[in-house]
Amino acid sequence: MHRRSPDPIYFTGMSEIQAQISVLKQTADPAVADAIARLIDEGEDHELNRINALDFSKRTGLDEERVISGFLHASRLGLFDLTWNVLCPGCGGVLDAHSTLKSLRHDDYHCGLCACGYEASVDEQVEVAFTVSPRTRRIAAHDPNTLPLWEYFKQVFWSSGVDLNKESFASLTEEVTLEALELPAGEKALVSLQVPSQFLIVFEPVTHTAQFIDVQGEPTKERQQLSLIYSKEKSPTGATVTLRPGPLRLSLDNQAGVRVLPSVFIAAEALHHLIGKRKPFLTAKRMLTNQTFRDVFKADNLNIDQRLKITSLTFLFTDLKGSTALYERVGDLAAFDLVRAHFHALLEIISSEKGAVVKTIGDAVMATFIRPEHAIVAGLRMRSAMDALNVERGRDDLVVKIGIHEGPCLAVMLNERQDYFGQTVNIAARVQGLATSQAIHITGPVIDAPAVAAILDKEAITPIQKQAALRGIADKIVVYEIP
Ligand SMILES: [Zn+2]
Repeated sequence: MHRRSPDPIYFTGMSEIQAQISVLKQTADPAVADAIARLIDEGEDHELNRINALDFSKRTGLDEERVISGFLHASRLGLFDLTWNVLCPGCGGVLDAHSTLKSLRHDDYHCGLCACGYEASVDEQVEVAFTVSPRTRRIAAHDPNTLPLWEYFKQVFWSSGVDLNKESFASLTEEVTLEALELPAGEKALVSLQVPSQFLIVFEPVTHTAQFIDVQGEPTKERQQLSLIYSKEKSPTGATVTLRPGPLRLSLDNQAGVRVLPSVFIAAEALHHLIGKRKPFLTAKRMLTNQTFRDVFKADNLNIDQRLKITSLTFLFTDLKGSTALYERVGDLAAFDLVRAHFHALLEIISSEKGAVVKTIGDAVMATFIRPEHAIVAGLRMRSAMDALNVERGRDDLVVKIGIHEGPCLAVMLNERQDYFGQTVNIAARVQGLATSQAIHITGPVIDAPAVAAILDKEAITPIQKQAALRGIADKIVVYEIP
């Protein structure tokens, strides 16, 4: 990241940070900027590593969108580094951390602990976290290989979405773990264990390798042997050996060229329960549908040949009805002001309902939302905003046609813009085209979302069901008109 050379006025590092903080106060919400400044000043090391923006918002009572936007601006200024972490959906472990979305691959992530391969979808499997920059403040996690063993698990292996508190951590280290040790690069160790009649995993979080041990049958007094070698090459994991309950001598050899942390876990209910506890975290999908991210990180997006799978995204299309007639009727100048006022209202509503504008095409807007309920609220607000603008003018010039659809799609780069591709996008655009007046048209997946039903219920709106043939779509689909 580009940083200017120290200005004579700010000659200590701290003053430079203060200068960055004061810029942050101008670009981000001042209360959020203050909270971030306090965190940098007073936070414990671990609190500044992989900050979970949603958690931070919850703890500080500050608005989520403003917090996300604040950390994005702070990252832009160089106070924090933003990482895109690919998570294992099974254990919540970080399989790979990328400093840019560009390096995210889509199909070859493997979790040693769970012995599973995954195709990364940006919905729930890619976490966006903020770590204080080493230039802002040096923290222990900047040197992960010097962190104590359990701190390594907590701060580096597991994502910010795994909810480990003091009690669950104590239970992890005391009840679930038979043995855990630190083995420096190039060293060997012998470990004597009594293995119980259970399924065990010898997991090593630095190299992400695992050896499974199925302990079963008659107990034995004879000492059993098992050797494990950690090497630089990624070894195929998932191998299971069968042993009998009784003494085991585990010989460990570290040829990985880096410190390793072999840990023997009992893979029973307690372990699954501990790591199964999750809290919300900032996903890549939410990041892509965040207006600040789209505005501030324009250049740092996807590669031209990259396609990221999103299993569910909500699209909202709008179009101004009869805008040609409008220009005809009121003249270019008045129409221009009116169209601009309409855009201003729509864009403001979209970003305040957790959405982002992908693009505008003529008098049409394409926007995305992380959940259908946000899109429906935005749609209803847009309609009221147009009514208000019309009332102000004493005419009915502004009629916005709105369509909403939800489904899977691909995040891609098109014409140097992060865009979306797929049938879901086509359907959403066509559904918008069905609206003839101030009606909003939505599809089955949108109306089926429980939160959408609750909103319509609260507004006493009864949707009208219709069959519609959409251009370019083979089958007729059911759409609902929101009168
Ligand atoms: Zn896993």
